[in-house]
Amino acid sequence: MQINTQRLLEEFLELVQVDCGTKDERPMADALRPKLEALGCTVVEDDAGAKIGGTAGNLIAVLEGSKDAPALLFCAHMDRVSPGRGIKPIVEDGVIKSDGSTILAADDVAGIAAILEGIRTAQEQQIPHGRVEILFTVAEEGGLFGAKSVDASQFEAKAGFFLDSGGPVGTIVVQAPAQKNVTATIHGRAAHAGVEPEKGINAIVVAAEALTKMKLGRIDAETTANIGLIQGGTATNIVPDRVELNGEARSRDQAKLDKQAAHMVEVIQSVCAAHGVEAEVVVKDSYQAFCLSEDDYPVKLAASAARAMGLEPRLQSTGGGSDANIINACGIPSVILGMGYHNVHTTQEIIPVDQLAAAAEFVLQIIKAS
Ligand SMILES: [Zn+2]
Repeated sequence: MQINTQRLLEEFLELVQVDCGTKDERPMADALRPKLEALGCTVVEDDAGAKIGGTAGNLIAVLEGSKDAPALLFCAHMDRVSPGRGIKPIVEDGVIKSDGSTILAADDVAGIAAILEGIRTAQEQQIPHGRVEILFTVAEEGGLFGAKSVDASQFEAKAGFFLDSGGPVGTIVVQAPAQKNVTATIHGRAAHAGVEPEKGINAIVVAAEALTKMKLGRIDAETTANIGLIQGGTATNIVPDRVELNGEARSRDQAKLDKQAAHMVEVIQSVCAAHGVEAEVVVKDSYQAFCLSEDDYPVKLAASAARAMGLEPRLQSTGGGSDANIINACGIPSVILGMGYHNVHTTQEIIPVDQLAAAAEFVLQIIKAS
């Protein structure tokens, strides 16, 4: 191991104790800017904060190259889920955890710390490198809002690495699904439920019938669908005239995704038509799929970094969407790297110190391999 594990651990512990949340990344952005500048980067904060109603924008840092090689992009997200304030990290038997009252925020402080330490070590060892670009996004959790607002045309990178996945270091996520969001408003007819219910059409009952006819859950190996929110009705004595459904479909195959979303729309509309009620159904693209192969540059680089560390590269697919979907769609082929953390988004979140160190070493080895 060539990185400085003690320095990395101290920086990780410092950063998880910086209070921050989604759309409230100001304290983290302020903590990271001087660290990036100390690496010799030029640092810009974009206007994502203003665009999405957050306290900080995405941080974009650039380290000019010292040799002629394709530019690389390293990414992590600054925000974290709740409860993520007042974190008191504990290091015990080689594992970092919280005190049980909060998450640990290894997702994604581990990614940030590994990028900083990996690049710092490359600088200290005077390893020649091409242009290195760093993107620390805001508001990844709950909507990829920061990545969606970033102006990707400023990047020259030919390969992107997102340090933001479960699985041991050596895991390389090369495939992720596309997602569409489906929102439906079903208009029934209101009536007094006790006096003249026959004049009403119950929108909740119509919605329920549509849901029982809709294929949801696991559709096939590549496709899933869910209705996750239902809202309607105002009182027990009123036949409800309005219900709103919010759901999603995901697939790694665009045709299957289109088919599933069309099915969800068709079921709602045909059930509503049978009851003589109106429905507005809106389908929106949330993010696009990506699918890289062993021959793609970021996969090659990540695989050789793994082998340089004596690890067997593990190419995987994920069922989740992340900032990497957005940046891939911008034309920068990107993979997501395993960080070795467990139980993210829970108060049982942990990361072994040796996995954190290996993630930083991975960054160093990618730079060396490029
Ligand atoms: Zn994450």
